[in-house]
Amino acid sequence: MKSLSLKSVLAVILVLLGGIANAQVADTIFVGGDIVTVNDKQPEAEAIAVKDGKILALGDRVAIEKAHRQATTKIVDLAGRALLPGFLDAHSHYISSLTVANQVNVYAPPAGPGKDVAAIVAELLKFRDSKRIPKGDVIQAYGYDENVMPDGRLLNRDDLDQACPDNPVIVGHVSMHGAVMNSAALRKWNITAKTITPPGGIIVRKPGTDEPWGLIMETAFLPIFASLPKPNRAEEVEWTRAGQRLYAMAGITTAHEGATHADEIAIMKRATDAGANIIDVIAFPFITDLETVLETNPISGWGKYDRHFKIGGVKITIDGSPQAKTAYFTKPYLSDGPSGEKDWRGELTFPEATVMRMVKKVYELGLPLNLHANGDAAIDVFLKAHEFAAADDLSKDRHVTVIHSQFVRPDQLDKYLRYRVTPSLYTLHTYYFAEAHIANRGKEQTFYISPMRDAIDKGLRPTNHTDFVVAPLDQMFMMWSAVNRVSRAGQLIGASQRVSPLEALKAMTLNVAIQYGEEALKGSLEVGKLADMVILDRNPLKVDPMMIKDIKVVETFKEGKSIYQASNR
Ligand SMILES: [Zn+2]
Repeated sequence: MKSLSLKSVLAVILVLLGGIANAQVADTIFVGGDIVTVNDKQPEAEAIAVKDGKILALGDRVAIEKAHRQATTKIVDLAGRALLPGFLDAHSHYISSLTVANQVNVYAPPAGPGKDVAAIVAELLKFRDSKRIPKGDVIQAYGYDENVMPDGRLLNRDDLDQACPDNPVIVGHVSMHGAVMNSAALRKWNITAKTITPPGGIIVRKPGTDEPWGLIMETAFLPIFASLPKPNRAEEVEWTRAGQRLYAMAGITTAHEGATHADEIAIMKRATDAGANIIDVIAFPFITDLETVLETNPISGWGKYDRHFKIGGVKITIDGSPQAKTAYFTKPYLSDGPSGEKDWRGELTFPEATVMRMVKKVYELGLPLNLHANGDAAIDVFLKAHEFAAADDLSKDRHVTVIHSQFVRPDQLDKYLRYRVTPSLYTLHTYYFAEAHIANRGKEQTFYISPMRDAIDKGLRPTNHTDFVVAPLDQMFMMWSAVNRVSRAGQLIGASQRVSPLEALKAMTLNVAIQYGEEALKGSLEVGKLADMVILDRNPLKVDPMMIKDIKVVETFKEGKSIYQASNR
């Protein structure tokens, strides 16, 4: 063997050393505030070094600066604020964010002005006149909450006709499972006195007649929902940026699109091609659109990000929503159904046999599955479908998430654990809808909604979500609701299910990364993970728990790059 000269060996060593030294120079080092890692092995750090969009090192400030600081390194002084992992959205309706900038917010207070029918109508008129909406153009609103309407006086077709006879008006129900429409909109979507209510649907009729009175829900609403106005080609890139900015403002660096139609996947892909994505977006195509989506998106490409967009799996909806009394329960509601039905238990979106077939199909394709299930009977239907479709191995990790799981029973949580199913809970209902749930379902069931404490104690890793646009994109308010469980009326909703601030934080960071199978890169601040981070004005683990909702997002980073800065920082 020919020996190497001393000179050439030294040269090689110098090149190697140079490479190592270069690899260790941070682009940015964050110091001067609490760094909350959400990593149990190293919960806090004094400094964190970022390079090429990833976390290079974290720990003691002096040691980090000594090892990784050069003249080119930017030092960010947190000035007493807190740095946390960027929030991962476990479930929302991302595609709606593209259009809400052009819609009327009629959420009930404090999220919006929709406290009664008159206030909603006034808001619609204000929007029509200030935006000079031409006659004939569709006017859309979101967030109508019938449960807070005083004296049970609900919004109907006639209210909207009186105010806006010349525009089709669609006031989206806060559940997103329906809307109140005026006569022009009912005509446009061809809903008349002769229209037969489809199974699993609701068309509320004017008392004493067959005439539709405005509220259309569930399967009767699905075709309307699918054909609502979408951004045109010229608008979609600009609207994508506006929508993603809403997420970035909330500290979210990974967004979820929770029931995507084929044409919406196409919009998201065109926006991706145009380089519009500033955060990661995961879409879950709706089961009814699966075949169409597969035609242009072969399975081999699923689950992989392409310029911040990926198709994550499939969505199946099993029932409706408890606040609309369409969630499906084993025991009847305490009040009559949406059309005055007696002994009403809600209903399934698809017949049980269809759900079984759908679940089996998704499992056979080997795709992650998200299901929408709120009522305990709907959850029973899913568990039965799982036992049918996964009979060969009930406990294999298939990345299955039951979105909402709001009225889950303890025995069902046990099965989630055994079947490796993640509950994505919805603790915001303890604030927004608790009084409605008490009226409809009674105290005992309401106090057990979204039982995060039990889920954690049983060994599950629950996540938490806003279901935006059902509730606003406000992750700190969501965290507050999991920690405090205080209702709109100031009532404590199930003290035994409250969780610690750290547990609530995990449900919007690390546990969501696990839900998506992305925990190697996201969900906590650890060496090698993406530098997806958020600066908050206070540390949510240190403030009075009742103050968590008042914490503000100061700045959001996606892979080390600032994507949102509060103007008053
Ligand atoms: Zn949803």
